[in-house]
Amino acid sequence: MDFLKSKQIYSKMDPLVCGCPYCGYESEIVIDMFDGQMDLASDCENCCRPFYVHVLLEAGQVVECCVQC
Ligand SMILES: [Zn+2]
Repeated sequence: MDFLKSKQIYSKMDPLVCGCPYCGYESEIVIDMFDGQMDLASDCENCCRPFYVHVLLEAGQVVECCVQC
């Protein structure tokens, strides 16, 4: 019996830091996927204005990140 041998395939990734397009305040965005693209809406913690984040991932790495108003 060797339970310790089972490995996690997807390691927990660090949150992505994106600057608010209005005030520049940096917010952390949690990515819960490994590959593909993700679009999400977020509200700035500082000025409370909504913005959109588009993230492209390849094998767990962020290859593209754009923030739009
Ligand atoms: Zn802001």
